[in-house]
Amino acid sequence: MKSAVLFLMIATVVFGCRQVEDPLAVLRGGQWIDLSWAFDEESIYWPTNIPFTHDTVFAGMTEGGYFYSSFHFAAEEHGGTHFDAPIHFSKDGKTVDQISIEQLTGPGILVDVRSQAAEDRDYQITAEDLKAWEVQHGRIPDGAIVLFNTGFWKYYPDKLTYTGTELTGQEGVDNLSFPGIHPDAATWLVENRNIKAVGLDTPSIDYGKSKDFKTHRILFARGLTAYENLAQLDELPADGFWIMAFPMKIRGGSGAPLRIVAFLP
Ligand SMILES: [Zn+2]
Repeated sequence: MKSAVLFLMIATVVFGCRQVEDPLAVLRGGQWIDLSWAFDEESIYWPTNIPFTHDTVFAGMTEGGYFYSSFHFAAEEHGGTHFDAPIHFSKDGKTVDQISIEQLTGPGILVDVRSQAAEDRDYQITAEDLKAWEVQHGRIPDGAIVLFNTGFWKYYPDKLTYTGTELTGQEGVDNLSFPGIHPDAATWLVENRNIKAVGLDTPSIDYGKSKDFKTHRILFARGLTAYENLAQLDELPADGFWIMAFPMKIRGGSGAPLRIVAFLP
């Protein structure tokens, strides 16, 4: 008994000291993975959108003898690696600037649907895929950010293989072909689990052939958010990582360019 108390005292002192010395040790020791694509003229946008532009305002030596550069960029909200706010498909939903930091960060899980999407590029992720993940890794934690790896990020930014078409305008929309999340899986998530957001490596959480965007509507009606055109998902494990997803804080925005990173402790 006496030695147990002593052990506890020592443990408390050692652990306590360590905390005082380096309370951020876990952040210093971990690994950061960037899940965002860089924006450039190749960035994938919806076929009806204006492509991203980045033009030189000035770059070079000034009359003052020092180097200076500055550029102008223009972007639609929903292209490249980007964020969807609930108002994108929900009339009274929150806008980008209204989303709390708490909702933009949380424990991540990754559902691997690469083989399903390789077999069928119009694959819609099912509730069964989510349940199969839970059999292996346990219940999806409260507040989770649920990511799906379709493997399509490897095609980015090749329009034909990534989106199914190189056409633009309505013709392009009519020929889109890429995997997404089935509305039944979205319903299962909002009715049975308590998650903050979903994300995947395609241009839309609804599959390319969707005409009614039901998955967007189901999730956004409940205040969830989404991340689209994610990168490097093969770098992530199935769980045990933390997501930080920070969109450009556009007031009134329905979406925005997104810098999203995963932290592996
Ligand atoms: Zn979007």
